[in-house]
Amino acid sequence: MASNLYVHFPFCRRKCTYCALHSRCGSAQAERNAYVRRLAASLADLPCPRRFRTVYFGGGSPALCSLGPLLRLIDADEFTVELHPLDVCDRLLKELRDGGVNRISMGVQSLDDATLASMGRAYTADQAERAFAAIKEVFDNAGIDLIAGYPVESASPAAVAQRLARLRGWGLAHCSVYALQQEPDSILGRQISRARKEGNDSFLALLKTDDQVLDEIRETAAFLESIGLMRYEISNYAVPGRECLHNLAVWRGEDYLGLGEGASGRIGLLRTQGMISLSELRRPDSPCVEKVDPEYDSVERAIFRLRTREGVDVSDRPQWRAALERFAAEGLVVRSGDSSYRLSARGTEVCDSILAELV
Ligand code: SF4
Repeated sequence: MASNLYVHFPFCRRKCTYCALHSRCGSAQAERNAYVRRLAASLADLPCPRRFRTVYFGGGSPALCSLGPLLRLIDADEFTVELHPLDVCDRLLKELRDGGVNRISMGVQSLDDATLASMGRAYTADQAERAFAAIKEVFDNAGIDLIAGYPVESASPAAVAQRLARLRGWGLAHCSVYALQQEPDSILGRQISRARKEGNDSFLALLKTDDQVLDEIRETAAFLESIGLMRYEISNYAVPGRECLHNLAVWRGEDYLGLGEGASGRIGLLRTQGMISLSELRRPDSPCVEKVDPEYDSVERAIFRLRTREGVDVSDRPQWRAALERFAAEGLVVRSGDSSYRLSARGTEVCDSILAELV
């Protein structure tokens, strides 16, 4: 079985406006307890010792569930739990630490109160700061997520710099910075399509241009570097040695077991989606499991390496060489040695087009 495990918790307090992830709001405690019991039964099915190299509990808000029964079943060298700022309390943090968790990722998303309110996040930047300080009392290895390019947030360089400045004393070990995706199935996506249909120009004027979003990301990257966090993947920055090993494993093409509604997984030639019971892996007609062909498998495992600072070695993929040499001539990738390529700073901004051309 895989040495990496992702477990998805599809429960949220309320739906954030930008989010199209698999999650639901207003669940009852009994429903969440039943969900944990199903996950626990799956994990108990794994051979002992149930020790993984990396485990990642993501969501949703994992802390809306009672995690104790799951923590008792598994161990990991790196064990991450995602927290919402409103989840954070001393009792939970100690339960996680005592249960073997050693890394926390908190979704902050914005450091501007008006933007947080517009996103439906239900906390202020001060509350997020206090929550992160409480996390740092217990976990040194802790980081946050931010979103760049949200419509109501000012993109002026002065405003971006002012927002970021408050992170200076947080002691971040890690930061993920994602460009806002205008997901058609999100609340925001529906607002945008309604505004387009109705010609609501004042709303549409709030949307950021691609250049504004790129400028904000560049400024954020420079700020994070100034406080010691280096970019190690297109959207991820860490103090050296504090990179997220779970995500690196996925980008490096390793297998990972994905459990829970909305969780994807990769085991050999199998791809899983939304699998809760491991018995699905043995069912030939399982709707959660798809078998891919070996060529698809090997391309998928290689391609995401290009997202990382390490880049990709193409000695066994000579068919990519001509395109990568062209990208190198355009300054989008950098070759090292005979056959390794990684993205340049400019390449990180157009990575999707580069990947699309390679596949
Ligand atoms: S962003 Fe996170 S907390 Fe918000 S709705 Fe999506 S999964 Fe839930």
